[in-house]
Amino acid sequence: MAADAAHAVNPWVALAYLVAGVLFILALRGLSSPATSRRGNRYGMAGMGIAVVTTLVTHSIASLPEIIGAIAIGGAIGFIIARRIAMTAMPQLVAAFHSLVGLAAVLVAAAAFLNPAAFDILGLDGNILVVSRLELMLGAAIGAITFSGSVIAFLKLNGNMSGAAILLPMRHWINLGTLGGILVLTAMFTHSPVGGPGENPLFWVVLALAFAIGFLLIIPIGGADMPVVVSMLNSYSGWAAAAMGFTLHNTAMIITGALVGSSGAILSYIMCRAMNRSFLSVIAGGFGAEASSTGGEAREQRPYKQGSADDAAFMLKQAESVIIIPGYGMAVAQAQHALREMGDLLKEEGVSVRYAIHPVAGRMPGHMNVLLAEANVPYDDVFELEDINSEFAQADVAFIIGANDVVNPAAKTDKGSPIYGMPVFDVDKAKTVMFIKRSMGGVGYAGVDNDVFYMDQTMMLLADAKKMVEEINKAMSA
Ligand code: NDP
Repeated sequence: MAADAAHAVNPWVALAYLVAGVLFILALRGLSSPATSRRGNRYGMAGMGIAVVTTLVTHSIASLPEIIGAIAIGGAIGFIIARRIAMTAMPQLVAAFHSLVGLAAVLVAAAAFLNPAAFDILGLDGNILVVSRLELMLGAAIGAITFSGSVIAFLKLNGNMSGAAILLPMRHWINLGTLGGILVLTAMFTHSPVGGPGENPLFWVVLALAFAIGFLLIIPIGGADMPVVVSMLNSYSGWAAAAMGFTLHNTAMIITGALVGSSGAILSYIMCRAMNRSFLSVIAGGFGAEASSTGGEAREQRPYKQGSADDAAFMLKQAESVIIIPGYGMAVAQAQHALREMGDLLKEEGVSVRYAIHPVAGRMPGHMNVLLAEANVPYDDVFELEDINSEFAQADVAFIIGANDVVNPAAKTDKGSPIYGMPVFDVDKAKTVMFIKRSMGGVGYAGVDNDVFYMDQTMMLLADAKKMVEEINKAMSA
């Protein structure tokens, strides 16, 4: 396997990679709005097509049958998983895929360390070039952090491991010490006189520390802070890919990795801002420390009002303005099509219908936007938190469908709550609140009770979201 430096400087290859890079940037631009996202995806596909074909044509990485065999096996596995996966399990799937990117970076770096001649990184003295030692050590370290961090994120999101924060004593010092160790040992590895193929044991020590820090950084993050972890690991996987690009002398990988790395970092920052968290505190671990997604604690029984689909249909038709707040439960129930139909029926009655989307609603960034777009809800009817929150005071009905944490006033009032500080929708200001969920026992992701259930103006609609909305639609059309 050879990253042929002579090919890397071929101007046509450089031009092709540049075009691919520009297409990736256009793709990111397109993905910034639902209206242009399809175009963005097409740009991305075209860019990736150009990058893959150019790499295959110009690099003698492996024989063609080997490459086609690997693509066929990987593609088939990816195809089957993507077809089977439920939309609600997307975050853990994404975490699992990130772990593969991290592992690939580790394997590429290890291969380059053990067989540097094949990667064209040997100096005249028979040692690995100093700059290549730095590149491959960084690639291996970032890859290892991405791998172990993503595995823990997968286990937490998939419910194989408690979503609660696991707080080690003196964790900040342990993390700081481990990170410092990685940096110092990487510098020593780079400047060490023993730099021949596979000879310097520091490589394996740094790799082990990097695996450990990935694990240590993610276990203390609990409860409602997982969205940030998902986007942060997305960023790490980008930097791991960029580091691989250096080792393989592949400009397209460096560009793509840097784009993924920086856009993931920006997304993490935006998510932190949306949740009113400090980015540094989340990545250092410990926010959401008291958070628990188990929701196991006993709750006092409080009185609440329950309504039927007929009651809801009657009141919705009387309303002038309805704001719909979708959440994770809508995704579980796949209620988006029935919901769009309900919106259409209300509009026919002259009711103003708007959809309010919280940045962390659902289980992945943009989850609700994707589902509403799939159901052809007009983009103009969809509003972000900061654009619609002041409107609840004038709304007749706040219609909450499968959302919970994003409408929980404890985020504003209860300092001990794991979601304290996260901006939430002011649904309590609406004249009437309708709340669809399956039972009073169920809790949201952060595992905390919600005072909105028990407010005077709240009507609980206890059923599967899709079934309930279909019944409301039937009652409205009758
Ligand atoms: P929540 O997880 O807070 O609440 C989901 C609600 O849906 C529950 O009340 C549940 O109650 C109800 N529900 C579940 N299934 C159904 C169904 N079939 N029909 C009707 N209701 C149903 O969701 P939110 O969207 O409000 O909040 C998202 C949470 O997830 C936040 O805490 C966020 O931090 C976290 N998170 C977000 C990620 C992201 O990137 N967006 C990633 C990871 C975590 P019941 O069981 O009684 O039906």
